[in-house]
Amino acid sequence: MKNFDYLEPTTVAEACALLKQHVGEAKVFAGGSHLTILMKQGLYQPKILVNIKKISELKGIKYDAKEGLCIGALVTHREIETSALVREKFPVLCDTEREVANIRVRNMGTVGGNLASGEPLTDLSQILISLDGKAKITGPEGQRAIPIEELFLDFYTTSLAEDEILTQVLIPPLPPRSGVDYIRFSSSSVVDKPSAGVAVRLTLENSGETIQTARIVLGCVGATPARARKAEGLFTGKKLTAELVEEAGSIASQECSPTSDLRGSEQYKRAIVKTLVKRATGKAYEQALTIPSPSTGEG
Ligand SMILES: Cc1cc2nc3c(=O)[nH]c(=O)nc-3n(C[C@H](O)[C@H](O)[C@H](O)COP(=O)(O)OP(=O)(O)OC[C@H]3O[C@@H](n4cnc5c(N)ncnc54)[C@H](O)[C@@H]3O)c2cc1C
Repeated sequence: MKNFDYLEPTTVAEACALLKQHVGEAKVFAGGSHLTILMKQGLYQPKILVNIKKISELKGIKYDAKEGLCIGALVTHREIETSALVREKFPVLCDTEREVANIRVRNMGTVGGNLASGEPLTDLSQILISLDGKAKITGPEGQRAIPIEELFLDFYTTSLAEDEILTQVLIPPLPPRSGVDYIRFSSSSVVDKPSAGVAVRLTLENSGETIQTARIVLGCVGATPARARKAEGLFTGKKLTAELVEEAGSIASQECSPTSDLRGSEQYKRAIVKTLVKRATGKAYEQALTIPSPSTGEG
């Protein structure tokens, strides 16, 4: 690894100013679980690391009845996994975090780093997109909030400018009569990262009979996580039937762009996506029918 300077700002404004001053030379450093590997491999050779770990405004998890869940960019996978508040509001996140990487990565890796890396073989983005999550971003020119889906542009490429910091992830309260499920599949030979991951969120009409909103988000089977919009459209305004679920699975498996690699062939991954869409849809539907609307208390 090449030598680098190491800066430790204590506010987001200070960090953005440093990034702006050293554009092209500096990189944000959070848990370091992703960046350190790339630096050791010589793929990144930043002259300056801007460690954001001392910025307290990037920490913590809060819930507000109107805004929903707010997760600071420095919150680690392990903190999400073990948070009673997250378990109460969005248990799917805690259940998924338990399967992410290993305990060392979960203790170091942050939600901000997970999203900002633009790494395609990850889990959280699929769930966050299915929940209509937003990323709050601060740069030298001010703040903006974008749908999480718009963060991802290509393999390891996000819409974050070099002098911007992802500060928080916002998840709006789950609408009544909603169910959400995420299923990841790892091939037995490569246990650390998923081969495919599918999140499904269904929100039923007031009558509880037909589907008002569907989100089907496919991950690890393309350059970025992406909604299967044609498959989602099949569900809107309809009653869920076995035939519809089968068709949605088939369509979704054609809406992604998997590549053949050590995690499986393209054809194999499409078959996995089809199965995961069907299973996750069934589970999300069951939840939407049976789980009472979430409480609106503040955390
Ligand atoms: C062995 C292994 C297994 C893994 N398995 C999984 C898995 O199963 N599922 C899964 O979802 N993920 C998995 N990951 C990815 C892991 O979740 C990420 O490495 C981790 O979350 C990154 O967070 P970090 O804080 O360590 O980021 P860092 O390594 O510090 O940074 C990563 C990138 O994001 C940038 N960055 C970090 N924070 C910010 C911010 N707030 N604003 C702007 N830019 C920022 C950095 O400049 C860098 O480019 C795995 C990683 C490893 C090493």
